[in-house]
Amino acid sequence: MEHERAKTGELERSLTVFLAGAECPFTCSFCDLWRWTLEGPTPPGALPAQLERALQELSGPAPQRLKLYNASNFFDRRAVPSADLPRIAQLAEPFAAVTVESHANTIGPLTLEFQKMLSTRLEVAVGLETIHPIAAAYLNKRLALSSFDRAAEFLIEHDIDLRVFVLLGAPHVPAAESIEWTVQTVEYAAARGAARVAIIPVRGGNGELERLQGLGEFTPPTLVQLELALEQCGPIRSAVVTADVWDIERLPGCDSCRSQREARIRTMNASPEFPPPVPCSTCA
Ligand code: SF4
Ligand SMILES: [Zn+2]
Repeated sequence: MEHERAKTGELERSLTVFLAGAECPFTCSFCDLWRWTLEGPTPPGALPAQLERALQELSGPAPQRLKLYNASNFFDRRAVPSADLPRIAQLAEPFAAVTVESHANTIGPLTLEFQKMLSTRLEVAVGLETIHPIAAAYLNKRLALSSFDRAAEFLIEHDIDLRVFVLLGAPHVPAAESIEWTVQTVEYAAARGAARVAIIPVRGGNGELERLQGLGEFTPPTLVQLELALEQCGPIRSAVVTADVWDIERLPGCDSCRSQREARIRTMNASPEFPPPVPCSTCA
């Protein structure tokens, strides 16, 4: 359960439910979501059963937003059986909005079918990752910028909200240019109609990133880089830009100012008015 800043400036209560299902067919070099997936296609009925159980545990007023993250693509029939969509839509009824995630290439007619079943507003979260041309080609994501543009246009044309994930520290982006490319990618997403953009620092641990690190092609992003990237996105007003703070304690940083920087990032996520920079004599 989180509080997320909405475009109105208000904080929205949002519940993320992680659903276990079929593995994503893409094999992005930075991704470790396969650890939470099943072998073979998702059995029909499995996702509604998981969602029902998660919602049963909720107490108090329903959050405004329900995020369904299935570690794959919601509109891939192998990951989410079509027969389960009506029940999932029904379970989403108490929420004002529902977010699902999808590769840009799997957004299409099934997205509209699901939208029709919903009585709530649909948002689709899409990983743009980076617009750095070389890094994007090496990510294994098989995502051309033109495909992202088409998907963004399609969603907006059909009155579906677009949330975009942007990486900080994508492999093959030179470490010294890391912040700059993240900010440019966020700007790119905002210019194509994204209502929300989340900056996600790449987290090692999937083996492939460690291999790339050994080759000098990946440098783990730091806490300060995350703070600066978010700060530099401040002038963007057409989208709510936030930094992903899951596992923030794992980001390399200075022990003297870590807690103030983490607090500053959380404050910047919650409000468009940024607090003053953190002074630190140790890492300044
Ligand atoms: S498309 Fe998304 S879920 Fe699939 S491998 Fe890439 S980052 Fe992971
Ligand atoms: Zn410091």
